[in-house]
Amino acid sequence: MKGNLIIISSPSGGGKGTLIKEILKTTPNIGYSVSYTTRAMREGEENGRDYLFVSYQEFSDLIKQDEFLEYAEVHGNFYGTSKTRVNHETDAGRDVILEIDVQGAENIVRDFPEAVSIFILPPSFEVLRDRLTDRATETTENLALRLKNSFGEVQKFKEFQYIVINDEKQQATNDLRTIILAERLKRVRQTGAIQDILDSFDISKFNTVGD
Ligand code: 5GP
Repeated sequence: MKGNLIIISSPSGGGKGTLIKEILKTTPNIGYSVSYTTRAMREGEENGRDYLFVSYQEFSDLIKQDEFLEYAEVHGNFYGTSKTRVNHETDAGRDVILEIDVQGAENIVRDFPEAVSIFILPPSFEVLRDRLTDRATETTENLALRLKNSFGEVQKFKEFQYIVINDEKQQATNDLRTIILAERLKRVRQTGAIQDILDSFDISKFNTVGD
């Protein structure tokens, strides 16, 4: 059985990165799809771990090679989900987390209706602004752009199956893990195992007198 595609979106500063790290540490059988991006590497980031950092030329070559499950322009840079990496995880039966923006989420849900979609909301605009400012990863201009874009992004919550409000980190992590684990228990996800059990219920071998 293939693993689930778990889409996780939020506005920049919504805290999805932190929650995803916790999930990867504490949840069995789950992987993360490292995306390609044309964005400049931030201090503390690592090529291959946080993103695969590429030039515009390399990114457009990857588009031509049909390497993206989806890609989008977000806050002035390009980001794309690698087909190879996602298939590697799901083919091995592992769930895979796609940390993507709302446009990417829309495209994945259209192409893979069985994907699980989760939107992480900050408890308020003020908290989002403070988190993003405290993170201090962006230039003043880019920070303003990300905050401005957040107004449109939060309105997209309606397109997601699940909403996790990221007020308290531990609670939000537990909520996220609950969704991921419950999705694995859906009937349609367990058809193989169920069939094996049902096959053992063979009435022709049933003996009413005893074993
Ligand atoms: P950041 O620059 O803060 O790492 O990411 C900016 C935005 O791009 C975030 O909303 C993040 O989820 C999104 N993003 C990261 N990777 C991808 C991807 O592969 N596809 C899409 N559509 N968005 C992505």
